[in-house]
Amino acid sequence: MIVILKSNPNRDQLESLISWLQDKGITIHTSVGAAHTILGLVGDTSQLDIDLIAALDIVEDVKRIQEPYKNANRKFHPQDTVVHVGGTQVGGGTLTLMAGPCSVESEEQVVAIARAVQKSGATMLRGGAFKPRTSPYSFQGLGARGLELLKVAREETGLPIVTEIMEIGQLPLFKDVDVIQVGARNMQNFDLLKALGRQDRPVMIKRGMSATYEEWLMSAEYVMAGGNSNVILCERGIRTFETYTRNTLDLAAIPVLHRLTHLPVIVDPSHATGKAWLVDPLATAAVAGGCDGLLIEVHNDPAHAKCDGPQSLRPEAFDALTGRLLALHRFLRTQEAAE
Ligand code: PEP
Ligand code: MN
Repeated sequence: MIVILKSNPNRDQLESLISWLQDKGITIHTSVGAAHTILGLVGDTSQLDIDLIAALDIVEDVKRIQEPYKNANRKFHPQDTVVHVGGTQVGGGTLTLMAGPCSVESEEQVVAIARAVQKSGATMLRGGAFKPRTSPYSFQGLGARGLELLKVAREETGLPIVTEIMEIGQLPLFKDVDVIQVGARNMQNFDLLKALGRQDRPVMIKRGMSATYEEWLMSAEYVMAGGNSNVILCERGIRTFETYTRNTLDLAAIPVLHRLTHLPVIVDPSHATGKAWLVDPLATAAVAGGCDGLLIEVHNDPAHAKCDGPQSLRPEAFDALTGRLLALHRFLRTQEAAE
């Protein structure tokens, strides 16, 4: 249930409403906006008399909501969340470009790619150290050493780093990672999500291969319920009957999530398609669809990449693409401002 207060509510009346609700076991999330303050009531609200609350002098309106996610819900928090990462931000009208190799292979490789993508406008370096591979015989990533190499690349370029955690025991190693990625396969690893909620590093949650929007938002809710509101969502394609592409990119996720939640939405056309030549058109479509950023795999030698070479762009292709994406994003922002 949400309670929308009139502007400048009487303090005493507000305090007595809050303590009355708290006595009933309700937790209150307060969101202060320019015009109105909104109280998000979490708990068993079925016992509350909606008409009684609506009749109070300080109350403008009361709405029951069905969605089981409260912290992630736009109804409770109408303003877009902006996640601050290093000197950059995700959300709030910016276009975040996360780019880098699927997996970190060596210092030379990751530093060279980091420099190249930075020149092309990337705002974050994305690389895998711990890799969730379908086959146990495939390259599993450099692990802790990979994280160290990402930090070397960060020192060299200043780019914040985004990298995937696979299990709770790895958390101490991620203390100074800028954005902790939860992969599609771990989207419902609830213990991991709870642990990520108890720390304050930003968390990017990729959509599970067959997760509904609501299931995905409930995963965000796990992190937020623990106290960490720095959550980013990443659409990376879902499993459908189509096998030509690695997954099917669900572009509707962008406007749907923007309606349901205030969290920023990143799109990953690389894992969604599995094919380098499809990254360009789908990245363009995602920017046109209003995403807050993209995650794109870039490799200096895709033919010899240890992981996901076929979907990786060469730095030159990434450079040509980002020029157009940034121009498209600027154009759309100007149009919006003019409307
Ligand atoms: C990745 O981002 O490298 C990855 C493994 O992606 P996903 O979890 O979306 O499959
Ligand atoms: Mn990959």
